Amino acid sequence: PADAEPFELPQAGDPSLRLLRRIGTADPESLESYIAHGGYEALRRAGQMGAEAVLEAVAASGLSGRGGAAFPTGVKWRAVAAETGRPKHVVANCDESEPGTFKDRIVMEQDPFAGAIERLRTAGLLGPDAAGTGHDFDIAIWRGAGAYICGEETALFNSLEGFRGEPRNKPPFPTTHGSVGEPTAINNPETLLNVLDVIIEGPDAYRSRGTERSPGTKLLCLSGNVRRSGLYEVPFGTTLGDLLALAGGITGTGELQAVLMGGAAGSFVGPDSLGLPLTLEDTRAAGTTLGSGVVMAFDTSVDMTDVVVRIAEFFRNESCGQCVPCRVGAVRQHETLVQMQKRGSLSPAPRPSSTTWPR
Ligand code: NAD
Repeated sequence: PADAEPFELPQAGDPSLRLLRRIGTADPESLESYIAHGGYEALRRAGQMGAEAVLEAVAASGLSGRGGAAFPTGVKWRAVAAETGRPKHVVANCDESEPGTFKDRIVMEQDPFAGAIERLRTAGLLGPDAAGTGHDFDIAIWRGAGAYICGEETALFNSLEGFRGEPRNKPPFPTTHGSVGEPTAINNPETLLNVLDVIIEGPDAYRSRGTERSPGTKLLCLSGNVRRSGLYEVPFGTTLGDLLALAGGITGTGELQAVLMGGAAGSFVGPDSLGLPLTLEDTRAAGTTLGSGVVMAFDTSVDMTDVVVRIAEFFRNESCGQCVPCRVGAVRQHETLVQMQKRGSLSPAPRPSSTTWPR
């Protein structure tokens, strides 16, 4: 019910918050405050551990990519490490243009020293012998080109390099041919944030949260008909119903009609999925996804046809136009849905009999 509040929301500094623990406690504009709240502890330890031990810890943690595809981070980093003789790059892909996603933006705005630049150079934490690790390491910020496709990693490299933002063929993967054709570890900011905990507490403690196959916690972007929309951090395995309850339950009619999971390219689940554990394996088995963290709830008053038409409109507008199935198909998909909407039904129009088609 709309007025049910069975869960206490974790407050700033609550120990159940791992990725968001500095948000609301540390001053986002102060490097000193970041350090006082444990900032750069992982960097110091990583320097002591050395590259091989860091790779080992990340692999053992079972951390998977948080941009949407959940690729094992340890596998990706090992593939980059195996490349020798060429310069290597790390790219934090902060392009977050999937409708309904805002997790990385909040982390970057509220916890910027997990990636701030100028102050760090002055403080000797970036540049030659960064933070006394003996390694030269610097960071540059590039403003995204704005288009949805420029969040796709290879289109992002193209736009970084001044080319039109269109995807490249994969393979080869960025691990061998990424930014300027050189080996590149490209990760989502939430993935990188998880690495700090893996280093600080070790892979075993990291795996104590979440499930065997989905270790850790997950940032989820709650929006739509929930009372307290916003960014939530929960251990993998929390059920969809508990997450919605944490967000204060369903507003409007108070009755859930559907939840869009993962992203606009994700999928809808119904009220029968409230018991679904939010893990990579359970959502996959249920035919849905955690994708890039979208959880958008719709109450029973929402016209779902309208929602689907708007999603189709988004993909029509954002097609980069490189490939025919998307360039033409996204337009046709939108047209078809609009026609269905006019007819008042999402079922397809009866097909003309085959004899009417030219032979
Ligand atoms: P993908 O499965 O092709 O790749 C995932 C990652 O693993 C990439 O970094 C890729 O380079 C790497 N990878 C895959 N196979 C590899 C191999 N054999 N060796 C080395 N590296 C390898 O997925 P994708 O096309 O990069 O992303 C699709 C996902 O993006 C979707 O699931 C969607 O949820 C998500 N998405 C996110 C946003 C957002 O705003 N965060 C927006 C749109 C889509």
